[in-house]
Amino acid sequence: MSRVDLALLRDVFEAAGEPPYRAGQVWEWAARGAASYAEMTNVPGALRDRLAAEVPFSTLDVEREERARDGTAKTLFRTRDGHPVEAVLMRYRDGRRSLCLSSQSGCPLTCTFCATGQMAFGRNLSASEILDQALHFRRIEAVDHAVFMGMGEPMLNLDAVVDAARLLADVGITNRRATVSTVGWLPGLRRFVDEVTEPIRLALSLHAPTDELRSELMPVNVRYPLADVLAECTRYFELRRRKVFVEYVMLGGVNDRVEQARALAALLDPKVFKVNLIPYNPTGMYAGSTRKAIAAFKDVLDAARLPATVRLTRGRDIAAACGQLAADPRPRARDGLATSSLRDRTRRQARSGSALRPSSGFDRRNGSAHHAMVLALGPVVAEAGLLIEAARGVVEELRRDLLALRVLRIALHHATARLRDQLEGTTKRHRCDAFPSVVPVDEDARDAVVGSLIRAGRLVFLAVMDVRELVRRAVLAPGDC
Ligand code: SAH
Repeated sequence: MSRVDLALLRDVFEAAGEPPYRAGQVWEWAARGAASYAEMTNVPGALRDRLAAEVPFSTLDVEREERARDGTAKTLFRTRDGHPVEAVLMRYRDGRRSLCLSSQSGCPLTCTFCATGQMAFGRNLSASEILDQALHFRRIEAVDHAVFMGMGEPMLNLDAVVDAARLLADVGITNRRATVSTVGWLPGLRRFVDEVTEPIRLALSLHAPTDELRSELMPVNVRYPLADVLAECTRYFELRRRKVFVEYVMLGGVNDRVEQARALAALLDPKVFKVNLIPYNPTGMYAGSTRKAIAAFKDVLDAARLPATVRLTRGRDIAAACGQLAADPRPRARDGLATSSLRDRTRRQARSGSALRPSSGFDRRNGSAHHAMVLALGPVVAEAGLLIEAARGVVEELRRDLLALRVLRIALHHATARLRDQLEGTTKRHRCDAFPSVVPVDEDARDAVVGSLIRAGRLVFLAVMDVRELVRRAVLAPGDC
């Protein structure tokens, strides 16, 4: 429950002739883990009944809960309009209770190692929907840390994330114990550095010491390259005097060589950055680094006096670990969601005689056809997603000042909905589980698929550019709009 629901609460209170402080009372109860209005004993009974009838207690419905052997709990929620959202409670031996929260349903970025990027992107979550994930776990037990490392890219939904992070303090998670993690999406990151004065922590998903490799692993790097992103993190350090965590997922034979550790040590200033090496949680695309490789990598960072730790993996047996949140209701094979469905489908196709070419076997470590296609299409899809979000951001800012923009916003809403459908179609087609059915039998057919997807991406690009241009004109001459 946050500002949106508090606003709804205030309306109900106003209609009932109640004083405004009642909304604060209700929030205090919710933040301390109350499970219903009935528990709020300093609120008059008749009012509690009315609230129960008129204001839903949570913006999210719980669909499924799982518990891992190590005590980690993962919950799958649904928003009112049916989007899946996952969040995780991690329990540590030292008593820490840390929440991993989602900022979006799905994610428009297409980092190749992350399961969330392989599901369809839904939408940004509201601050209420983010807080309601935390309140759900708060009703189970007291919590003291939170990381925005669940589904989604927080810097694409900065206002809601920061609103929620601020209110988390009432739930028991101080600003210093809240961490926002980003791929380095610069427009949001710049605003985070400039505008958020609270001591909320920053983490950067880096994963590669060079632009070349990073762009291969994370298409967003093509748009916002390493040097610019690191400069922004350094600015955060200079302004806030808080170190930036660097997340580095260890992919066997891809980014875990000793030379790469040296390059990383040369890239990062030990005064500004602390590295967290993350064992890869299987999502079907890569092999994880061996323990030995991780230790050797860490040795190089230690020798360079760059602070580094190896992240404790939690909740892997229920696919609740980093990068595994994909809201997939299907039963899981031990080595990951995508792989199991891929394998099933491949088997089915083999049985039905439509087997794939031998050369398109799914060797996930090398450049399989599948991998190559994902890499080829990733930037197109990511670019389109980013542009839609960027256009939305522009509209959102101007809305406050220009009445005329309402009309444009509605147009943009319809346009983005249509474009998102198109994009989802595109995305689904290149996702692992739908993939074998479209891996064509010959090169020409494959080129045709790639070509049509690239054209779709361009259409999205042009449409968003049109909208931007309209917005720009509306700013220059609002009267004409
Ligand atoms: N979009 C933001 C927030 C998500 S954080 C970001 O990327 O920073 C999720 C973290 O888990 C990121 O550091 C991400 O790179 C990492 N991750 C993704 N897939 C992973 C996987 N399969 N194994 C381990 N870590 C993974």
